[in-house]
Amino acid sequence: MKIGVLCLQGAFIEHINILNRLGVTTFEIRQKKDINQEFDGLILPGGESTVMGKLLKELDLFDDLKTKIENGLPVFGTCAGLLLLSKDIENDDRKHFATLNITAKRNAYGRQLGSFITKATFNNKEIPMAFIRAPYIKEANKDVEILSIVDGNIVAVREKNQLATAFHPELTDDDYVHKYFLEMINNSKL
Ligand code: GLN
Repeated sequence: MKIGVLCLQGAFIEHINILNRLGVTTFEIRQKKDINQEFDGLILPGGESTVMGKLLKELDLFDDLKTKIENGLPVFGTCAGLLLLSKDIENDDRKHFATLNITAKRNAYGRQLGSFITKATFNNKEIPMAFIRAPYIKEANKDVEILSIVDGNIVAVREKNQLATAFHPELTDDDYVHKYFLEMINNSKL
């Protein structure tokens, strides 16, 4: 299994480390030629969605990655990565891939109280969750499976080949969410 990690900006190293620990081959996506190869999954890390969105266009990666996601490539977006996938962002006019049928709210916890760690269930398992100037999901289309709710707000979802978390599972020592993504990839090949 080979997973491409978008490495334009943000917390990508942590994803690479956790995947490598799980025995998965990864490669860095920094420019267009990096995606001229077969791969099984894509990670969109946390960082700044506006910066990543702009770089994706400038580096001419945007259209090809959007097509791959639309054609079923398993993708996992964390935090800013969730915003890149969101069909709508309530408090931002920008849209990016817009392939995931949710409406997200950017910096939803406010700037001061924006970072915290809590424990909550993801897909019925309790895990630690790190939130850093995180969005949450205001609305999810009926086809979207809700995997986590924290304080009444949706913070993890899945729609077919797309997984998104408002929190950063790569920043805690629990690899359950990454394993869930690997299982999505394995099942997509059956
Ligand atoms: N606040 C960032 C954004 O709007 C997301 C923060 C993060 O990825 N940790 O893109």
